[in-house]
Amino acid sequence: MEDRELAGKVALVTGASRGLGKAIAIKLGTLGANVAVNYQSSEQEANDVAKEIEAFGSEAITIKANVAESAEVKAMTRQITDKWGKIDILVNNAGITKDNLLPRMSDSAWDEVINTNLRGAYLCTKFALRSMMDQFEGRIINISSLAGIVGNQGQANYSAAKGGLIAFTKSTAREVGSRNITVNAIAPGFITSDMTDKLSQEMKDEVIKRIPLQRFGTPDDIADLVAFLASKHAAYITAQVISIDGGIA
Ligand code: NAP
Repeated sequence: MEDRELAGKVALVTGASRGLGKAIAIKLGTLGANVAVNYQSSEQEANDVAKEIEAFGSEAITIKANVAESAEVKAMTRQITDKWGKIDILVNNAGITKDNLLPRMSDSAWDEVINTNLRGAYLCTKFALRSMMDQFEGRIINISSLAGIVGNQGQANYSAAKGGLIAFTKSTAREVGSRNITVNAIAPGFITSDMTDKLSQEMKDEVIKRIPLQRFGTPDDIADLVAFLASKHAAYITAQVISIDGGIA
């Protein structure tokens, strides 16, 4: 990819204060995009991400919004279009886990995970699409998961949300293709972040034995794929689910 490949583009990355979202926001910024850095509670971290993007010569704003709340998402997309006039790239990355075996899972753990990981993507897509449909151009990249393809014990809520996100991706792609908007999902395997830091060392060692490339992925591995999907080189790719998991699936 060229140095400033995404110059002139406007990107919204949800959950961009930490982990994968942070790496994605910085990567898009280094490629020249102006980036809205969404977060829910990590204000300082989000500000640091914005500063890092600005250091590369792109513009950045931070926006506190719970992606599961319609009014907050509407206000967030309005703030972006007021500032930059459009949204070209939406990365639905914000996500949480609340793991438990199904018989012990609380209704709130089910609802919170479905609401953040699936309803959040629905709301952000719905409001960002308004700008994309007007301009007959857009890229939507949904961060799903290996768990959304093969499932995972203790993650019925998370797997259902991530599997739902894949179906949502395919349906939306079919709906908006005629407007030159692509919609794809990425299914990461095990990537180093606060989310996977919760796993015990014993569990991490067990997982690594099953990964052909013998390591967890890095947030930058994911950011590189997002950047490609957001670029002109991926103009004819839509309705796809791309696994990036070191070969584990
Ligand atoms: P993480 O380190 O826990 O970061 C999660 C991010 O999402 C944070 O920026 C957090 O904001 C934000 N967030 C959470 N709830 C939100 C809400 N309601 N509204 C707005 N932002 C919210 O997680 P991660 O590992 O980077 O995961 C990022 C995405 O990749 C998730 O969708 C996850 O399911 C997916 N994924 C991760 C892995 C992995 O191995 N790490 C594998 C497959 C898929 P605050 O900082 O403000 O709380």
